[in-house]
Amino acid sequence: MNILVINCGSSSLKYQLIDSETEKVLAKGLCERIGIDGALTHQPAGKDKIKTTPAMPDHTVAIQLVLEQLTDPENGVVKSLDEISAVGHRVVHGGEKFTSSCIITDEVIKEIEACNVFAPLHNPACLIGINACKELMPNLPMVAVFDTAFHQTMPAKAYLYAIPYKYYEKYGVRRYGFHGTSHQYVSAKAAEILGKKPEDLKIIVCHLGNGASLSAVKYGKCVDTSMGLTPLEGLVMGTRSGDLDPAILEFIANQENLTLSEVMNILNKESGVAGLSGVSSDFRDVRAAAEDNEIAANALEVHRYRVAKYIGAYAAAMNGVDAIAFTAGLGENDSESRAVISEYLGYLGAKIDPERNDVRGEDAIISTDDSKVALLCVPTNEELMIARNTAALV
Ligand code: ADP
Repeated sequence: MNILVINCGSSSLKYQLIDSETEKVLAKGLCERIGIDGALTHQPAGKDKIKTTPAMPDHTVAIQLVLEQLTDPENGVVKSLDEISAVGHRVVHGGEKFTSSCIITDEVIKEIEACNVFAPLHNPACLIGINACKELMPNLPMVAVFDTAFHQTMPAKAYLYAIPYKYYEKYGVRRYGFHGTSHQYVSAKAAEILGKKPEDLKIIVCHLGNGASLSAVKYGKCVDTSMGLTPLEGLVMGTRSGDLDPAILEFIANQENLTLSEVMNILNKESGVAGLSGVSSDFRDVRAAAEDNEIAANALEVHRYRVAKYIGAYAAAMNGVDAIAFTAGLGENDSESRAVISEYLGYLGAKIDPERNDVRGEDAIISTDDSKVALLCVPTNEELMIARNTAALV
């Protein structure tokens, strides 16, 4: 069956039409500048991208345009909307309510709304996408796939913060974690590449993109992850600080005469390798600058060191690790980062093979045959995971 996968942002919308039997992408594309002017890039499989700039006042119009592209006599990939069996929506925050994907009902929409408080920028955009699809395709089953759901198996010792317990009880302040669809896909794929079952392995997934998170997946279940109540915690990211001493917030606010919101904005948008290097949030730019710029070189070291520290922590959390998988923009493409991070892991008996590590964006075992821990490069595929979860439910 054909599944339309929708990933909605506040002013953008990514889509893929996936045949769930063959797992082939029939077409994919992106709507940008929704509510501003509008730009649509549509790409049928095996054909060139088609770029247009139709007016896109809101998400409903954007999705209407996507449906027109998908059924277009020339550039379309299906004859009519009857050939689409279901829609899978990426939803960022499902709180504690959603431990797996689910069919979208009015009740589910209310529950997602209740999670808006945790992801005020992302969840309302997901809901706009859901409501727009409901309006345009009222009889089609729709499924919500949550970034947080895979992490709901974490034990209390991993998800509780050491602050007064009443804040967890009253407001749900705890670790939720994100990128769950990616961690789920990559951990399962890593096991498959190794010819083993996830239930037999302790795996650490390093999702290293602009946003970055690690997860400890023990016997197929997530037991810890580095992002927290929000996607700010954990690793050093493109523009996000990751972990820091919480007292820094008040200190900077006082020194610079800023409000708490202004400091939060700095931690989310002006920190990470961008803030540290002063060069860019794009790791490729920072790498290029690092050749003759010590500050940029330091920024990369801080990033890689933090990843290595988290791997150590998760090896301890699981009392061992069988496989470490690198994924997302940096993890899939940057062999130098993978090599430097792996150098910290000698004590685990992990040995990277420089030749095998010379890969970009493909499934590969990159450790030596005698490495005690398997190191892997595994391109993530969140859209496919959303299509799989959707097909399974409808
Ligand atoms: P997100 O989905 O969080 O926006 P991605 O997973 O797309 O992020 O990753 C984007 C990041 O991947 C960018 O910062 C980019 O620098 C990095 N990246 C992509 N290709 C390479 C490469 N060849 N070497 C180093 N970094 C890369």
